[in-house]
Amino acid sequence: MDSTTRDALIERVRFYRDLDLTEFYRRPVDPALLHPTDEDLSVGTPALLAQLAAETVEPQITGAPEPALSLPKGSASEAWETNSQPVYPQEDQPIPPRKPIQAAPQIGAEVPPADRAAALELIREEIGDCTRCALHAGRHKLVFGDGDAAARLLFVGEGPGADEDAQGIPFVGKAGQLLNNMINAMGLKRDEVYIANVVKCRPPANRTPEPEEANTCSPFLFRQIDVVRPEVIVALGATAATYLLGVRQPLAGLRGRVHTWRGSKLIVTYHPAYLLRDPRQKKEAWADLQIAMRELGLKPPSKG
Ligand code: URA
Repeated sequence: MDSTTRDALIERVRFYRDLDLTEFYRRPVDPALLHPTDEDLSVGTPALLAQLAAETVEPQITGAPEPALSLPKGSASEAWETNSQPVYPQEDQPIPPRKPIQAAPQIGAEVPPADRAAALELIREEIGDCTRCALHAGRHKLVFGDGDAAARLLFVGEGPGADEDAQGIPFVGKAGQLLNNMINAMGLKRDEVYIANVVKCRPPANRTPEPEEANTCSPFLFRQIDVVRPEVIVALGATAATYLLGVRQPLAGLRGRVHTWRGSKLIVTYHPAYLLRDPRQKKEAWADLQIAMRELGLKPPSKG
């Protein structure tokens, strides 16, 4: 097994463990497997299972780093996280009322599922090489959206970070890995959902988008949502919740319930980047995702 797949599997099992889903092993684990050698861990499925077993069944044996998804101290990745990951310090605070949130435009006409990809492409073409707000100045790639144009479930984040700006695809950095795990934990694949952001260009140093930037860009997001017409929308974090629902309220008051918005059910939860900083909130986020699953008629994964 290649190291990327192995790392992804380890991340997945850690994520399940954070959600208290730990009953993966029906049979007792051979104690010898709980102490794999470095060589054991370098390649191969038995070695991987040993590592996963050690981390999942007896996390204290391996001394698995906590929080599970934090980055190694002093690593280049940590520097990246500190310097270029959005900070989301105010997840439980309303966005300051500096400027009004623009009212959402009237809902667009329904597009037949077979024509939705083409309809999204037309919106992308209309956006073009956008200079409508100041964010264009620092942009490498505009991040339009990604996924199934006729998805039943749509996630909205805040705005691209460094990785997304480099690749032109939403949620491909560390927060994106966690979002992928969240999607997979719901029993879905990333390409079965649609993912977009409030703003399509990276804010400098990943600051929160200014109301003027969000108000300029969000009409395109609303049009994307009207085309995809998802049954359920998950707003990731305070910025998405604020500009979708058009209210300034702390996240705590918006989470844990189903809002009806533009013909879809809308659920608010924490932004994955915030969960990377405070993994204790993952259980709360999982509870929100389970509300989304219930609305979609998806069964939670069995516990073993
Ligand atoms: N954070 C976001 O809000 N969106 C992305 O695409 C990546 C990180």
